[in-house]
Amino acid sequence: MKYLSTRGHSGRLGFSDILLEGLAPDGGLYMPETYPQMDDAALTRLRGVLATQGYAALAFEILSLYIDDIPAADLKRLCEKTYTQEVYGTKEITPVTPLGSTGLHLEALSNGPTLAFKDMAMQLLGNLFEYELARRGETLNIFGATSGDTGSAAEYAMRGKKGVKVFMLSPHGRMSPFQQAQMFSLMDENIFNIAVEGVFDDCQDMVKAVSNDLVFKKKYKIGTVNSINWARLLAQVVYYFAGYLYATKSNSEKVSFTVPSGNFGNVCAGHVARMMGLPIDKLIVATNENDVLDEFFRTGVYRVRGSADTHETSSPSMDISKASNFERFVFDLIGRDGAALKDLFATQISAKGSFDLSGDARFAQAATKYGFASGKSTHANRLQTIKEVFEQHGVMIDTHTADGVKVAREHVKSGVPMIVLETALPIKFAATIVEALGREPSRPAKFEGIEALPKRVLVMKPDVAAVKTLIEKNA
Ligand SMILES: *Cc1c(COP(=O)(O)O)cnc(C)c1O
Repeated sequence: MKYLSTRGHSGRLGFSDILLEGLAPDGGLYMPETYPQMDDAALTRLRGVLATQGYAALAFEILSLYIDDIPAADLKRLCEKTYTQEVYGTKEITPVTPLGSTGLHLEALSNGPTLAFKDMAMQLLGNLFEYELARRGETLNIFGATSGDTGSAAEYAMRGKKGVKVFMLSPHGRMSPFQQAQMFSLMDENIFNIAVEGVFDDCQDMVKAVSNDLVFKKKYKIGTVNSINWARLLAQVVYYFAGYLYATKSNSEKVSFTVPSGNFGNVCAGHVARMMGLPIDKLIVATNENDVLDEFFRTGVYRVRGSADTHETSSPSMDISKASNFERFVFDLIGRDGAALKDLFATQISAKGSFDLSGDARFAQAATKYGFASGKSTHANRLQTIKEVFEQHGVMIDTHTADGVKVAREHVKSGVPMIVLETALPIKFAATIVEALGREPSRPAKFEGIEALPKRVLVMKPDVAAVKTLIEKNA
């Protein structure tokens, strides 16, 4: 399999070449040249693989369709090392459970080390990075900014890995006590937590300033692990297959998925699975008050938001101003025309912050051909949904999953199981759970008392020179 850029650059790179890269040289995102097709016989075979050999074997089957420059035996070993019952808590890895007889099901994606779905891909990425860096005799310094989930998922994926160090900025005192404890209690020598006296935007500005210094970036081998990385997206395709296979008995059945969305990374993996022929009826994009994506699927207008227009909500991991993976879907929607794509995302977005496909006949195909629909949820909806799901089904869901359940209810059809992706556990967002239910969320045993653990974190002013010095000393 070769990869090309959404903006027309046709380097035809292999998987291991794009693994350690961010954007393509033309500013586009990497996409596979084709989507391998899963016919009925292939799906039946995967059903057998999942039932008899488990999730890791399924992951190997899907990944090997897209990765031909890592020997099969090595890739299999990396999958087996990643998707274990020990790490994810169940044999199924992503078990699917019905919510009573509503037609709704929850697929659990947040039982990994940091209790959010980002672990599903990041844990694999950690093992792939370690493998590829060793093979090349190289090292990498991951430098990023986080307001919560991504940074901790990256640190738990890279901790103790050979050849990789992580330098992670976060806004001092602004993450929840649980999130701070999760990150700052890591004592691994290759993990550097830096709390910046400022807000998340200050952290991001520091990352940008360092990335723009190309000499420094090259000399210190600075890299990222953000959600546009193709390997992360690919790892996520696996749980759409698993969810489908767990929820159905035969390939003649269809399911729909509702996905709590921000940067469009999670639901884009659903799009890939559907393009491969997985029998998905609808892909429902659920947003919070930051409704960039819902607006697009309703109106055909994609309008990125300014910071004044970006709301801080109680489902904070979906608080985005633009959806960084959305370009991948639009690439398919407009017939994989790199020049036209570049006009939309480079020219029009830079000039006026938006583009409008409402008059383009292909926009209608987002729903008809590609199965997309959308909806949005507010703080009040979240509180009500958390309460209802708890009262009616005895299940405690987090704020992001609640956005998903709220929107899923508006789209559920009889005879088609609606799988809502559970993207985090309630303990990560305790304050809102208390607001909704008047009680503290349950806490998995291994997280008892983590707020009291010793912390390893350096507090710093928003000072680019200081963070560069820190990297120079420790890289
Ligand atoms: C990152 C995240 C999301 C949004 O996922 P995208 O891939 O950015 O659309 C939703 N919920 C939780 C809990 C997250 O951490």
